Amino acid sequence: MNRQYVYAFADGDGHDKKLLGGKGANLCQMTQIGINVPPGFVISTEACLDYLDGNQLPDDLMDAVRDQIGRLEAATGKTFGKGSDPLLVSVRSGSALSMPGMMDTILNLGLNEETLTGLIEQTGNERFAYDAYRRFIQLFGKVALGIPDEKFDEHFEAVKKRVGVKADVGLKTSHLKEISEKFLEVVRRETGEDFPQDVIKQLQLAVEAVFRSWKGKRAVDYRREFNITPDMANGTAVNVQAMVFGNMGDDCATGVGFTRNPGTGENEMFGEYLTNAQGEDVVAGIRTPKPLVDMQEEMPEQFAQLVELRNKLESHYQEIQDYEFTIEKGTLYCLQTRNGKMNAVATVKTSVDMFGEGLISKEQALLRIDPELLEQLLHPRLDPDSLAEPVALGLPASPGAASGKCVFDADLAEKLGRIGEQVILVREETRPEDIHGFFAAEGILTSRGGKTSHAAVVARGMGKPCVAGAEGITVDVNQRLANVGHHIIHEGDIITLDGGTGEVFLGAIPTIQPEFSVDLKELLGWADEMADLQVMANADTPDAARVAREYGAMGIGLCRTERMFNAKDRLPIVIDMILANTQEDRQAALDKLLPIQRADFIDVFTTMSPDPVTVRLLDPPMHEFLPTEQQLLGEIESLSLYRSVVRGRQTAIATLGKSSPLPEPFSDLSEEMVLDVLTKKELMLAKVRELTETNPMLGHRGVRLGITYPEIYAMQIQAILEAAVECARNGVEVRPEIMVPQVITATELKRVKSTVDRLTKQLEEESGSKLQFSFGTMIETVRACTRARELAANAEFFSFGTNDLTQATFSFSREDAENKFLPLYNEAGILEDNPFEVLDIQGVGQLIQMTVERGREVREDLKIGICGEQGGHPKTIQFCHHVGLSYVSCSGPRVPVARLAVANAKLREKEFAEWMQAGSSVSEGRSASL
Ligand code: ADP
Ligand code: MG
Ligand code: MG
Repeated sequence: MNRQYVYAFADGDGHDKKLLGGKGANLCQMTQIGINVPPGFVISTEACLDYLDGNQLPDDLMDAVRDQIGRLEAATGKTFGKGSDPLLVSVRSGSALSMPGMMDTILNLGLNEETLTGLIEQTGNERFAYDAYRRFIQLFGKVALGIPDEKFDEHFEAVKKRVGVKADVGLKTSHLKEISEKFLEVVRRETGEDFPQDVIKQLQLAVEAVFRSWKGKRAVDYRREFNITPDMANGTAVNVQAMVFGNMGDDCATGVGFTRNPGTGENEMFGEYLTNAQGEDVVAGIRTPKPLVDMQEEMPEQFAQLVELRNKLESHYQEIQDYEFTIEKGTLYCLQTRNGKMNAVATVKTSVDMFGEGLISKEQALLRIDPELLEQLLHPRLDPDSLAEPVALGLPASPGAASGKCVFDADLAEKLGRIGEQVILVREETRPEDIHGFFAAEGILTSRGGKTSHAAVVARGMGKPCVAGAEGITVDVNQRLANVGHHIIHEGDIITLDGGTGEVFLGAIPTIQPEFSVDLKELLGWADEMADLQVMANADTPDAARVAREYGAMGIGLCRTERMFNAKDRLPIVIDMILANTQEDRQAALDKLLPIQRADFIDVFTTMSPDPVTVRLLDPPMHEFLPTEQQLLGEIESLSLYRSVVRGRQTAIATLGKSSPLPEPFSDLSEEMVLDVLTKKELMLAKVRELTETNPMLGHRGVRLGITYPEIYAMQIQAILEAAVECARNGVEVRPEIMVPQVITATELKRVKSTVDRLTKQLEEESGSKLQFSFGTMIETVRACTRARELAANAEFFSFGTNDLTQATFSFSREDAENKFLPLYNEAGILEDNPFEVLDIQGVGQLIQMTVERGREVREDLKIGICGEQGGHPKTIQFCHHVGLSYVSCSGPRVPVARLAVANAKLREKEFAEWMQAGSSVSEGRSASL
């Protein structure tokens, strides 16, 4: 029964934030390591919950409080509620998670008619005493008695106006006395009772008010906004603490500080203070505070104490602290401390510095940084001081911010880009043939499509900002404009995108450029040493490979060859290949593609030498390389008209017997030429219709293409192997890996492998040297997971393609899911995350785990990675580490985040294993994501 609700700062367990709240726990810790904290005690969060449960304070709570007050009296030599040296206290709230400014602090509690006289006697400062009194009446009136501030303010303002002063410092004792009396009257009028004279009663009312405020609207809204669950912060504690005064004269002050500069991470005194002021004055902006360094001149002795305080805080917490202090008659007191919030630059710098100073270990230096924070450092971002309001909101599809002129098609984007204009490519959605526009654009905006839409995936690969599916925007390419609400954006108008938030702004908004600092390089070097998992990049072109290298990729985990096909000079050959009706025609086109692919591979392999490059053989359905049916129909219609014109001209010449009266452009066109083009287009149309599938993503693609058109895969394999031979000849050490997509059975693998073997043999004979490469499969069908043993017998590596595998496991098409029902599923708590962003550990993860186990049963040294988009996400990475994958592969610009995350995954492996254990033993429904 006799539960302990109250803990003296000297006794409380400073690590139990859940029980004592963050502020209370830190006050206990600081007291116990000898920092000068005014004495006090904490009433626990358990007392709060019991109070809210029973609508009254727990039975013996006030007895325990009285007891603690007795101890405070003994410690300070002051008396509570009476005497000539009265004890005054502050009553402060504080829950496990900081909720800044949520609940007001009551200062100077303990003042009544009698102690007011005592305070005057004690301090000899009547003005000070009345100032404290009027502050207390108002705060207590507001917080504990629920009287609105205005009721007090009107009297305060009236007096100031009458006296003719702007700031409170201009008021004399008599004025403050008058104000105090008016305030007491306000209380009487508003509550029908006198201001409580019994100080224990004051304390009880204040404690109850703090407890009640936990359920107040402000606090409830805040917790909802920041997703603070009851599990994270359950109830608030109350801190009762002896008052110290920063407003008793010029040898007094109050201030706030950071142990280091939170903007730059610089190791320097940082903060502000005010002389002769009380707590709230610094934050309230009543007077302009001075930078802490000024104290060195003004109060050198106290400045030295402050430096000592700062050092003590940092060496104890081993973390940057955000602290509050007050100086009373030359003595420094610390009133609060908590971990400082910093931007990414400062967080990285302080990690490296604190390790250098011997304050923390490398492990701590890595663990204190949230990997996601690094994103900030790798992309331009919007100036946080900008006040502009977005006009539209889409999906944050690829991070970074960019401004530029709106352009509605890729050709114009390319043209303007080439002359040095900054452009944003704005489309309803993009297609592979828009790729040259991506290269030229600073950013991409689409009004349709999800986070795996073409625009999103390509932009991420290139590290360019992209906002996708901004449905509030209607793009009208023909009129060269877009409508957003009541705004019209014309081609050439400047807009700004934030691909990290999905926001779209009109006009140019200043951006801050990223920097890959020396500190970040050093830190990530430590991460690489610590980690088990390797970090590869998804990179499709030689340029992307170079970018990935700069970000520290340890190889390429996914090189999608079809991305190489989309370049403008190659697409026509690819189209010839698709249109071919005979194997000879197809072979002719493939013969033209072979040297092009080989050259690309040589470039990519050389860039990544001596690290592995995993090349995926052709994956997407062929129709993706062809124009749409609609587009072809339009073109054929125009060509038919053109043909009539040409024919008419011939007829005219023949009839009139005169030479051409027609304008230039028509002069050198014969009917046969037009007919040729027309025939080609009609052929294409027939092919497009022939290739039409109800479900292209589940249709004729991946290895299925390789089986039906073996010569396509043969050409790609030959290009890879010849590139390897060529590199070896150049003395460049390379490690190509040939990867087959969409596999469902070992027989498919064997078929492809036989081509590999045939070509290897041939090439080895020709070159006289042994080829170094490996052969493996993507795991992206459910059947591949179930047949892992048989596949492992025929593959040296597995790579989980978790985009397709997730679609297959959920039976969701990603586009439809993200655009239609997924947001609702997340909101309703049916699914916790978007499984296309964060790996679904409970579902897809189970399949992965099973596949890893079965695969390694057959082949102990099976190399296993993940190359889906989730591979760059820290939580996914933690799981990949847990199940023993060999590497993760993600888009190049995401590599630094992943490098830190793989180290953190290693350092937190125990914690995660426990979490997994707990997760798998609870039933469906407890956690939304199960
Ligand atoms: P918050 O959670 O909003 O930071 P605090 O509990 O820290 O609120 O209190 C607000 C202000 O009251 C602080 O600026 C602090 O300096 C001042 N304050 C709190 N307790 C005392 C005390 N015992 N003596 C003097 N000032 C105090
Ligand atoms: Mg505070
Ligand atoms: Mg796939």
